[in-house]
Amino acid sequence: MGTGTRHPSRSLVVRLAVVATAAAGTLSAHAATPAQAAAPAACNGYVGLTFDDGPSGSTSALLDALKQNGLRATMFNEGQYAAANPSQVRAQVTAGMWVANHSYTHPHLTQQSQAQVDSEISRTQTAIANAGGGTPKLFRPPYGETNATVKSVAAKYGLTQIIWDVDSQDWNNASTDAIVQAAGRLTNGQIILMHDWPANTRAAIPRIAQGLAGRGLCAGMISPQTGRAVAPA
Ligand SMILES: [Zn+2]
Repeated sequence: MGTGTRHPSRSLVVRLAVVATAAAGTLSAHAATPAQAAAPAACNGYVGLTFDDGPSGSTSALLDALKQNGLRATMFNEGQYAAANPSQVRAQVTAGMWVANHSYTHPHLTQQSQAQVDSEISRTQTAIANAGGGTPKLFRPPYGETNATVKSVAAKYGLTQIIWDVDSQDWNNASTDAIVQAAGRLTNGQIILMHDWPANTRAAIPRIAQGLAGRGLCAGMISPQTGRAVAPA
């Protein structure tokens, strides 16, 4: 076999790259996978996409949208739903998502006793682990409401508290356009709040992926050490 067939000339490679770039959105059989098509050539930074309040009957559709667009995210699950839908916790892991703790019943933790906070957090750790989601390292208090008691109990279970930098307002009936625009405000290291259940959020996923890729940003994991979005480990 001649080397010419194995190693195309540099100019051919460049031309092929141009063609592939132009056609990335339409080719499927021989070109990039959707995940590769959505990813920028290089990651100039990372953002943390987060989805709260699952797993639910909506989780499969959300995971499909994320996978089809080459995105990974952190899923802040409620313990009661992890216990009720363990297969969806495993599906989150299989889809490449990071599984995290969002309390067991979604109460206002700042109005609860230390023993109640402890129960909310510890039962969720157990439910997620029993479902096959591993032992979470990240915790988001419901409504972003926290205090010294909540922080200390989270720390007792090895959890880093994560709030958010950008609120998509998807919980407040934000439009798909508004959710896409919120993601467009993310800068390197930042985290956006979204939810497992809104249809508008699922509809926003392809445009969120395109917007991030156009800005050289990739979907990353949230570092338990810094609480910032970083390259996946
Ligand atoms: Zn929530």
